[in-house]
Amino acid sequence: MIKYTIKDFNKNFPDDDSCLEWLKNYPYPEKIDCPVCEKPTKHHRITTKKVYDCDYCGHQISPAAGTIFEHSSTPLKLWFYAIYLKTRRAEFHRPGPWVNE
Ligand SMILES: [Zn+2]
Repeated sequence: MIKYTIKDFNKNFPDDDSCLEWLKNYPYPEKIDCPVCEKPTKHHRITTKKVYDCDYCGHQISPAAGTIFEHSSTPLKLWFYAIYLKTRRAEFHRPGPWVNE
């Protein structure tokens, strides 16, 4: 099993922006099918907001929309850290090979 340590976590998610980037890239690793101009385009981050806009028409999408993060005032990094802790802990509840069935 590959261990995903807190060091790995902090390297992958140093700040809120990296968490938002992950949220965008998870469903859209390459390009986003823009709902307005209907073209698969690259979207660029608007630095002042938590949104990305379409290179072609400027339509904005929010990677946090429709997720538990959308209306939260908790920083994304903190959410991600909580999820990291929870998923790590889940590992301990899984029976290992030493458990007799
Ligand atoms: Zn567009």
